[in-house]
Amino acid sequence: MLVGKVIKVACVLMFMVYNAFGYSSSHGATLIGPAGSLTLMERYNLNVSIDNVSSGDSISSVEYFIDGRAIPSPHNGTSFNEPARKPGVRQIFARVTLSNGIALTTDTLAVNVQFPRVDDILTDSTIVAGMNDAWSVSLTFSSSSSVREFGFWIFADTRSGSSISYEYGELQNGITIDECADFNSVASINLTGAQDMQSSLVLGGGRYTVASFHTHPPYLCSEGIGRLVGPSRGDLTPHPQGIPGIVYDFPGPRLDFGHEVSANPVATTWGNRRTVFPVFQ
Ligand SMILES: [Zn+2]
Repeated sequence: MLVGKVIKVACVLMFMVYNAFGYSSSHGATLIGPAGSLTLMERYNLNVSIDNVSSGDSISSVEYFIDGRAIPSPHNGTSFNEPARKPGVRQIFARVTLSNGIALTTDTLAVNVQFPRVDDILTDSTIVAGMNDAWSVSLTFSSSSSVREFGFWIFADTRSGSSISYEYGELQNGITIDECADFNSVASINLTGAQDMQSSLVLGGGRYTVASFHTHPPYLCSEGIGRLVGPSRGDLTPHPQGIPGIVYDFPGPRLDFGHEVSANPVATTWGNRRTVFPVFQ
């Protein structure tokens, strides 16, 4: 009995001395990855390391888990560098198996995968071409008796490739107004059909709504008060999912009768800089 107690006390003392010097009595595995956040399709760049390796021990295999789901092979090395195809806070850890059969689990790393910034969307050639086409349609439709706004949703597709593929939805139109007959009428557009889709595979991607776009028509009335350019009061109402807005309008700061209708449009953004939540209904 007494001998047993002495051994127990000695073991506790040894453990305390070990820890005081920063040693650990067993292996540990660490997952090193991006600090904080990524944007969709940026790479995870994760690396696994093990501490206190005894001679002869080595990493036999690594299994990565995202949101509790195992990533299928061949991702079983000490680094994992796939693009982040799904938005949201991803909880990632790795399970390491050593050559001696010991299994180690790393701490969980939270990686916030964000939607793209509206400023980056505005530099995409496909999107710019779509906005310019919509602007042409808007000008073609406009007369001194009727104007309309035109627009579409902008989507980011992360389901294949190694970078975001941007696309835009069907061109939609707003209400037709005759602002020369009714100075109080205001053009507006209510875009419909923002619906995201996402793969159920752990490494699969999706198609996400990342911005809205609409045009503002020219001011063609010989009377009236003209208008200011840029996002209207209605445009500035926040979207529930925090989706950024882009408006094409004429150079400002205001439009009056006789303004240059052939002037190049100016893009202005409003709302969030990036979508906050996906649009799953
Ligand atoms: Zn507007």
